[in-house]
Amino acid sequence: MAGRPRCELCGSRPAPRLCPRCRLVRYCDASHQGADWNSIHEKICPLLIPPQPCFHSERARTHGKEQLLRRQKSIVEVAVSAAQRFLWEGKALEALPAALQALRFSARVFGWSSVQLVPVYLLLAEASTGTGNLRQASKYLSEAEWIVLQSPECPAAVQSRLHRGLGLFCIAQGNLDQALYHLSTDVYLATSAFGVDSIEVSGGYFHMANIFFRRNKVDVANSLYTEVTRLWHSWLLSSLQEHQGRLRRLRAHAEAAPWADDEEVAEDGMTEAQGEEARRVLQALLGVREKQQLPEETARVLHALAVLHYLDLDLEKAREVGMKAFDLAKELPQQESLETIGHLLELINANFSHTK
Ligand SMILES: [Zn+2]
Ligand SMILES: [Zn+2]
Repeated sequence: MAGRPRCELCGSRPAPRLCPRCRLVRYCDASHQGADWNSIHEKICPLLIPPQPCFHSERARTHGKEQLLRRQKSIVEVAVSAAQRFLWEGKALEALPAALQALRFSARVFGWSSVQLVPVYLLLAEASTGTGNLRQASKYLSEAEWIVLQSPECPAAVQSRLHRGLGLFCIAQGNLDQALYHLSTDVYLATSAFGVDSIEVSGGYFHMANIFFRRNKVDVANSLYTEVTRLWHSWLLSSLQEHQGRLRRLRAHAEAAPWADDEEVAEDGMTEAQGEEARRVLQALLGVREKQQLPEETARVLHALAVLHYLDLDLEKAREVGMKAFDLAKELPQQESLETIGHLLELINANFSHTK
């Protein structure tokens, strides 16, 4: 790019300060340099330094290009997950520079009209909303909408995420009717992409339930909360089953060939994002259900949380929450869940004696 170099963070002011490590990016002042460093630059600075060019042959050139592309893709991944983590921690301001880098590099790799940019725009919109800049958030959402409209092949999963983003933005604006429209569209699209029993559907339901709850439509809110609980409860129980199955296979494998390397490391079924969403939603549901004094619903939420803690390898918490679930389930007229919770507690206790 020609002309005077501009600040990496604000892009507007002249930038006399150079990053001393990569010697590639510049900043207008120390505060912008510090903000970018803390958000994302520390993680990507070494990735920005280009490898020694070696353009002797066509093959070397192609190899160089492929390497560059791989680097840029990994910068996108690092930046997206950094921005996402800051948002989970409630640090919207810190998330912004990382999300901006994610956008810059996604556009370089995939092009400005690629569907791959939609999740990045949604991160930017969420971060902007979090800092109170609704006008900027709305601009990012329009970009995402524009891309989706221009892409007839855009997967329903991406469209569903867009509508969730639009729904959350409308909630932040206080436009609850419009929010309900977007969230129900999100549910419809997520159902067609993932199926009725998928946890991808639960996010839309959960935010809709919160709106009905706020509007004192407690019956509708409660039936949606029940559905959200059912989805996470059954998803976590089947994740637990898969996890146990994997452990059994690994053990059988180790017994059959004790000298073999652990080449096949057990890959866990739950992604970081799913774990985080589960934690948030279940904690929120627990708060609602405890206040409403609905023991059956509370027990189911606690059971799901205990499984989540167990899968997170937090045995202490898993046992504490699992015991609470068990004590509640004991008092219920239908006791079918008691046995499953009992099994979970046995499993937790067995692991406790293993580790001690
Ligand atoms: Zn600046
Ligand atoms: Zn640097």
